[in-house]
Amino acid sequence: MRTLLFLLSILSMVHSTMLDTTHLHDYRAITLDTLYDGTPHKAIRQWQEHNSTRHLIVDTATLTTRIVDSLTPLDTPPPSRLSELQKALLAAPHPLHNAGLTRTHDKSVILTVDMCPSRKPSYEKALFDYAQTHHIPLAIAITARWVAQHPDAFRQILDAHLSITWVNHTATHYYDPHEHNLSRNFLLHEPSSLETEIFETEKMLIAHGQIPSVFFRFPGLVSSPTLVRRLIEEFTLLPVGTSNWLAISGKPIETGDIVLVHGNGNEPSGIRRFLEAPYEGNYSSIGESVGR
Ligand SMILES: [Zn+2]
Repeated sequence: MRTLLFLLSILSMVHSTMLDTTHLHDYRAITLDTLYDGTPHKAIRQWQEHNSTRHLIVDTATLTTRIVDSLTPLDTPPPSRLSELQKALLAAPHPLHNAGLTRTHDKSVILTVDMCPSRKPSYEKALFDYAQTHHIPLAIAITARWVAQHPDAFRQILDAHLSITWVNHTATHYYDPHEHNLSRNFLLHEPSSLETEIFETEKMLIAHGQIPSVFFRFPGLVSSPTLVRRLIEEFTLLPVGTSNWLAISGKPIETGDIVLVHGNGNEPSGIRRFLEAPYEGNYSSIGESVGR
């Protein structure tokens, strides 16, 4: 009986930390060229919220996203940075590991921070404090499950006045530690629904007043040609890999790097390396500087 009560209390705790997104109805992917403020955008999501239709749109030059109600269709969109990146990604080789955008196109560095699900109670607050003090824009690869596990930590990150681009890192970040064949693990594990994994994290962000971006990081950096194509063509998302996974690369940060660290407490050696040997050059936001 005592065990049952304990289990029930755990279940209710888990449930109370899940964010309610049921007010976001009929959430779906669309692809519609549109004008916003006189500049070309692409509408990539549509949903119903409090009796109005809402859209997520992306500026096809700057790759910044915003949420709007009405759309102004654009009949003949000009070639854009977004379409060039999509074309280049579709034509590129699709390795099992680390497919996607891995460099900046300029002399800056992009800092990406992965928040995979974690049983660690805390997070790498020192890293976020450092980013705040030094005005470093962050590309945070977020999972809905980490947020459900750590609502207070997530709130602290939201309240820290950071410059954040939310990179979708899936909702559940499936991972089987006993499956050593990468082609059967992470998103390549059969029952995963790509749509649910993407949409649940986007809806969680929207319900927190945040704006999803066009960027996506594959869990484990593991993907297939089919997944890359679906990500780009069905969901208008751009996969982001890394040129310097700090905990395992053994390299200092160099100009042009997309740096990967874990902010969820699961890989403290990467955070240590980052804080002990800071890069002295420019950091920029992922939308501004991501390239190939
Ligand atoms: Zn991850």
